Amino acid sequence: MTVYLVGAGPGDPGLLTVRGAELLARADVVVYDRLVHPSLVDLAPLGAERIYVGKAPGRAEIEQADINALLVEHGRGRAVVRLKGGDPFVFGRGGEEAEALAAAGVSFEVVPGITSAIGAPAYAGIPVTHRGTSTHFTVVTGHEDPAKESAGVDWDALAKAGGTLVILMGAGRAGDIAARLVAGGRAPETPVAAVRNGTRPDQRTVRATLATIADVGIRAPAAIVVGEVAGLDLAWFETRPLFGRSVVVTRAREQASELRRRFEGLGAQVIELPAIAIEPVTFDLPDLDRYRWLVFTSANGVAAFFDRGVAPAGLDARALAALRIAAIGPGTAAALGERGLRADLLPERFVAESLLEAFPAPAAAGERVLLARAEKARDVLPTGLSERGYAVDVLVVYRTVAATPDPDVLERVRRGEVDALTFTSSSTVTNLCDLLGEVPSPQPLVASIGPVTSKTALERGLRVDVEAADHTIDGLVDALLGALSSDGA
Ligand code: SAH
Repeated sequence: MTVYLVGAGPGDPGLLTVRGAELLARADVVVYDRLVHPSLVDLAPLGAERIYVGKAPGRAEIEQADINALLVEHGRGRAVVRLKGGDPFVFGRGGEEAEALAAAGVSFEVVPGITSAIGAPAYAGIPVTHRGTSTHFTVVTGHEDPAKESAGVDWDALAKAGGTLVILMGAGRAGDIAARLVAGGRAPETPVAAVRNGTRPDQRTVRATLATIADVGIRAPAAIVVGEVAGLDLAWFETRPLFGRSVVVTRAREQASELRRRFEGLGAQVIELPAIAIEPVTFDLPDLDRYRWLVFTSANGVAAFFDRGVAPAGLDARALAALRIAAIGPGTAAALGERGLRADLLPERFVAESLLEAFPAPAAAGERVLLARAEKARDVLPTGLSERGYAVDVLVVYRTVAATPDPDVLERVRRGEVDALTFTSSSTVTNLCDLLGEVPSPQPLVASIGPVTSKTALERGLRVDVEAADHTIDGLVDALLGALSSDGA
């Protein structure tokens, strides 16, 4: 089999290459480093073996020779992805791994990655070359002691070469390096920018000059840019409205992706704390010809109804041809849309009461309604529709159960070390409060999708800071954006 030396990019998981993602998706073994984003390792199949070879507290660093041996051993029989930060051949020791594999006769391929030497400056708004300003860039290690004559790097030559210098692994020696460059002839007022944790939600860019950089504390991992381009500030990443803010998303993992995308697009760090998980239930699809209306109150309900009811019965959307379909809101309607169905009824406000109001009177007494929904839900719809003269059957198509979240994340929320909690339903409130056991102190900002969810939050002792005007994901995002960008913290 083959060992793939894959560049993971500098941190933002979106910077993995398509080729890298494909290989991860069919890897038997993933061998990864410390700076690799966990969500990239998650791309491997569930059954794949995951081997962490980075530094860990209380453990000696794994020797490169041992990593090489590991790759050779696993590479003989299995598809191995060796996932490395940035580009595997830029200070990544990928060359040594390739040599070891070649020597052992194990086939390998290299998938280049976006190196932090370019990626981190780009996310800080610094082009490493710029017309009229810099015609070349040099990437150099700052790991070697610049005071030692034997130290492989010719700082005098680099100082004379001008252009842009990108120093990796130089956080601890930035002052010494700057002094060597000035001694070599580079102007003391040359701009310097140090980009720490580039492309990640905690990116920080510090700006100085060769004369002042020694006074600025720089912590690893940082890419240090020296040259006229470091004076450019085409900031876009650190200036996004929710940059540096942490937002907790409490939806079930299956439903969290849309919210995650929206918040991440605004620059927030999203912490998934699924308070509920969706659990399938077994049900028999009733005879649909008996019904006039089919009502859905969630996208989950739509998915479960089709995947566990309609499809197993050997049917498809045509089985619903004679039915009128009601959806509680746009998310539910979109789930229907994915199955080629348009909702006949969508209320003005996306709550059960509004759906009830929008329902026409039955054409004949006893007209039947099938309500496909979760096991635990409010009685507003069945009771209300019965009062209106409909015969209502509730079909339980899924169940929500409390999830078991990461204890560290939970502790962080308990201590109030996040900026906001978002709730998309009463059950997410109830379950998160049960998990937390107490109201976090200080309480982060609480954003709720609508009045029913807010009421539950208040009952559980939470302060509700913002409620979505539109009871949709978009409405929730807008509400939180308004609240977080105006509180100025
Ligand atoms: N192969 C990697 C470099 C590995 S050496 C690449 O191509 O990016 C490790 C050094 O890379 C760190 O000391 C730091 O200088 C730099 N680095 C890695 N990730 C970084 C990030 N997200 N932001 C800034 N610098 C980073």
